[in-house]
Amino acid sequence: MEMIELKQSTKCIQAGYSPKNGESRMIPIVQSTTFKYDTSEDMGKLFDLEADGYFYTRLQNPTNDYVAKKICELEGGSAAMLTSSGQAANFYAVFNIANCGDHVICSSSIYGGTYNLFNVTMRKMGIDFTFLSPDCSMEELEAAFRSNTKCVFGETIANPALIVFDIESWAEKAHEHGVPLIVDNTFATPINCRPIEWGCDIVTHSTTKYMDGHDATVGGCIVDGGHFDWMAHADKFPGLTTPDESYHGVTYAEKFGKEGAFITKCTSQLMRDFGSIQAPMNAYMLNLGLESLHVRMPRHCENALKVAEYLEANDKVTWVNYPSLPSNKYYERAQKYMPNGTCGVVSFGIKGGRKKAEEFMRHLKVAMIATHVADAHTCVLHPASSTHRQMNDEELIAGGVGPDLIRLSVGIEDIEDILADLQQAFDQI
Ligand code: PLP
Repeated sequence: MEMIELKQSTKCIQAGYSPKNGESRMIPIVQSTTFKYDTSEDMGKLFDLEADGYFYTRLQNPTNDYVAKKICELEGGSAAMLTSSGQAANFYAVFNIANCGDHVICSSSIYGGTYNLFNVTMRKMGIDFTFLSPDCSMEELEAAFRSNTKCVFGETIANPALIVFDIESWAEKAHEHGVPLIVDNTFATPINCRPIEWGCDIVTHSTTKYMDGHDATVGGCIVDGGHFDWMAHADKFPGLTTPDESYHGVTYAEKFGKEGAFITKCTSQLMRDFGSIQAPMNAYMLNLGLESLHVRMPRHCENALKVAEYLEANDKVTWVNYPSLPSNKYYERAQKYMPNGTCGVVSFGIKGGRKKAEEFMRHLKVAMIATHVADAHTCVLHPASSTHRQMNDEELIAGGVGPDLIRLSVGIEDIEDILADLQQAFDQI
């Protein structure tokens, strides 16, 4: 049968796994650490990367591979792997090409956990980072490149600032300097944005968010677009373009080409050594989430837009930040990259600052207080009294997370219940 490019909705359900005659319709959960072979020679071929197959789940597992393949097709990539968390995905994606003595350029508006990973932990590994505003000029971006710069990093929609990243411009600049652009596409998901189509080279995800979508499993994913020519910049990326002595002398870019080198190296080196695997059972649950991603995302966006419009019209609200609102600073950019909607996360401030924000949240019943975002349940967080409580008001304002800021992750419940919940909480403050 001739393969046709399926629509995203069909891929959510069917990509990655095609059962043969009499096989299970759902992906099998291969809950096994190891795999059996008839001869040592057969297994040796796997160790030498001469044959495809499984030998130990720390490196690869069929259940995980079905799900990675589905996400790969959704993103329009050439190869992908699952990781135990979004943190592991971002760490692996960068560390696969940037080592001690190297430099990375990063948008300053990214998830706080990623910022810590880069700015504290990976600095301890000898990797230097330059953080630049995602709104910096192309001249400022140009000036940040050094001879040892190995990649550029940003988030499609930054958590929690909700700034839309100009993927195309940053990708062009990265490519002018012979390095790839890595984009964390967690908030948009491939339903709303496919960064590879805009020139991004490697996509990462915290699948913990919309992809799982039900607050059930922590996980991550890395997808390679398969377009970056490592061999054309061989001296910059020796890990990919010279023999890996820790892996039987294989040269990844030669043996696996543009399409396979990055993920093969990441699996056979980093996953082998750090072992941040996703449990097959979790991958199975992630797959269940993916099967409805295309139905849930439009509903998240529709509900969030209605919430943002409601908040904008509320005189107890001082400001609203949602990139799909026409009044938003990033509206035009959001329309370019995500014309069908951005995400379900909205932030806003209320009159009376910290005290009123806390009081307002105490009255909410449908919206649950949780440090999570991006799942089916509407949830709400006041960073100043929770995740950012070690900071004083001045520090909070400087960090762009003022004491009045409330982050609302709009779920897929009935919009009338969500709005009624907000209204009754406003009525009581
Ligand atoms: N990237 C983004 C944009 C996130 O929002 C998060 C978590 O909130 C992460 C990465 C980290 O993912 P995880 O919590 O799955 O490790």
